[in-house]
Amino acid sequence: MATAASAKPAYKIIDHTYDTVVVGAGGSGLRATMGSAEAGLKTACITKVFPTRSHTVAAQGGIAASLQNNSPDHWTWHMFDTVKGSDWLGDQDAIEYMVREAPQAVYELEHAGVPFSRNADGTIYQRPFGGHMQNMGEGPPVQRTCAAADRTGHAMLHALYQQSLKYDADFFIEYFAIDLIMDGGKCVGVIALCMDDGSIHRFRAKAVVLATGGYGRSYFTATSAHTCTGDGGGMVLRAGLPLQDMEFIQFHPTGIYGAGVLITEGARGEGGYLTNSEGERFMERYAPSAKDLASRDVVSRSMALEIREGRGVGPNKDHIYLHLDHIAPEVLAQRLPGITESGKIFAGVDLTRQPLPVCPTVHYNMGGIPTNYHGEVVTIGADGNPETIVPGLFAVGEAACVSVHGANRLGSNSLIDLVVFGRAAGHRLKQLITPGTAHAELPKDSADLALTRLDHFRHAKGGSPTAVVRTEMQQNMQTHCAVFRNDELMAEGKKQLAKTYSRMQDIHVTDRSLIWNSDLIETLELDNLISQATVTIHGAHNRKESRGAHAHEDFPERDDKGWMKHTAAWFDGWGGKGGDVKIDYRPVHEFTLTDDVEYIKPKKRVY
Ligand SMILES: Cc1cc2nc3c(=O)[nH]c(=O)nc-3n(C[C@H](O)[C@H](O)[C@H](O)COP(=O)(O)OP(=O)(O)OC[C@H]3O[C@@H](n4cnc5c(N)ncnc54)[C@H](O)[C@@H]3O)c2cc1C
Repeated sequence: MATAASAKPAYKIIDHTYDTVVVGAGGSGLRATMGSAEAGLKTACITKVFPTRSHTVAAQGGIAASLQNNSPDHWTWHMFDTVKGSDWLGDQDAIEYMVREAPQAVYELEHAGVPFSRNADGTIYQRPFGGHMQNMGEGPPVQRTCAAADRTGHAMLHALYQQSLKYDADFFIEYFAIDLIMDGGKCVGVIALCMDDGSIHRFRAKAVVLATGGYGRSYFTATSAHTCTGDGGGMVLRAGLPLQDMEFIQFHPTGIYGAGVLITEGARGEGGYLTNSEGERFMERYAPSAKDLASRDVVSRSMALEIREGRGVGPNKDHIYLHLDHIAPEVLAQRLPGITESGKIFAGVDLTRQPLPVCPTVHYNMGGIPTNYHGEVVTIGADGNPETIVPGLFAVGEAACVSVHGANRLGSNSLIDLVVFGRAAGHRLKQLITPGTAHAELPKDSADLALTRLDHFRHAKGGSPTAVVRTEMQQNMQTHCAVFRNDELMAEGKKQLAKTYSRMQDIHVTDRSLIWNSDLIETLELDNLISQATVTIHGAHNRKESRGAHAHEDFPERDDKGWMKHTAAWFDGWGGKGGDVKIDYRPVHEFTLTDDVEYIKPKKRVY
């Protein structure tokens, strides 16, 4: 690798100049694109898949906002639930911002054309979701999740794409962003490959917004699309910047057994419940008041325990049943048509009559690129400061870690995060950038990192095919860094992953062309995935407590004195280096944004 990285390959480069370049066209990228273009900035959006095929399209259940249409609600209740859900790792200033802006952001979507399901009086229909309760956690479940049947993300993407086009943003579709262009700690652009004709494009920009989604595909079974390879996080690590709280991986309780396809929490919101091999509704034992609507980490752990103690269903006793067969078929058809179809296709089950086999499946990354609540990327610990803004670089959506979800995200809080912070980034860009002003000169080596990597992998002739190395990484993560973790497991996982990483030096790519070379693209994606898998397992192994989605069997209690802090992790991998990880920490924000609400003090988290 060292030799390839030092040679300078010759590729013809096509240049572009924009005020803002957004990488990613999921819900967050489109909302940022729309905001930037609406502000009069010359805006480009680069995306490796067609915008409406981004993973946001798969979001079923809905988007949380305290509209009070179907039950009493208040933004302070939404704030309390999100803080509690985060197991007190979320930053309360950012959480306050999100929940207060949420209703406005949903009304904007409504006006942009999202066809929300309706109540009889014409208002937006809202359903219950796990961990969302009334009256600061003291009351019954609240109906806070706004839904367009079980196709909410699909509806959002279509509306946001149309709006972005209306404001004249330029789209570069099926372009793969390879690396950032950094100059003295500042981001000044990005290099991308047009996958269709193999041309190389250099985008000079006053700001780059990374909206590249999560890295769920570092695990063997995930509800996320195969495109969720965390490319933005990989670029950030190669730029020498840290990622934050990567050890917190959300397992969704109800992935269809064997297929990993998601059954929305909305299914339990509409009255669905889980049973073990004895037919028992076991969630009543683990979460006496919220039961099946406890938060996701709690339900996933309870299911894993039932299976471990021999009460799983099926011939191998390795999954659980989800019942919807008691719900009226008309209600299923109206409120949950998509999952009724998924049950039939992926499990051969008629949900109106039979229970569905499910098990906890990787679903969401709480960690990501650290930002403030304006979407500006921060680095951690530079010159002794806990957070320093990286000029010219923004991150939004699942790629980012604001951090509003802390150690565990509540269902329907991601879609709202996408639009609230996509919109916030648009506002900040408007404040920071004056259209028509001069651009910074690009550094002479602006394309070197991207092109040496591209060239290296394109001509890689080793003995390890990409798919083999990827499966090895995914199985390792699934075995050693899953719902329950312990010291021995994670130490072994780290060792094995380092071995797998060394195989990246011996990678084999068969196709040498630049036209629709999916072999090459998957290798660049694997390079992004494996750096993030590595910082994930290192961060997890270092954290000697249990909090939210991080359940450490040797340290089963939360330890606020020692560990109420965010992990920051750097990865030193590219260019023949061995993949060393450096870890540091930064304090959680123990303050709110305004005086309208007080900091919510940590207490024990029970549902
Ligand atoms: C099955 C499923 C159901 C869900 N349901 C809900 C729900 O009901 N409610 C909720 O709140 N949350 C839900 N979530 C979570 C939520 O949908 C996601 O967190 C969110 O949609 C992520 O949006 P995003 O904008 O960050 O990225 P994505 O929607 O993942 O989009 C990423 C974008 O980045 C682009 N991209 C990535 N890499 C590159 C590159 N190298 N070059 C160019 N472009 C690139 C892609 O083309 C894509 O456009 C669900 C998630 C899943 C997987």
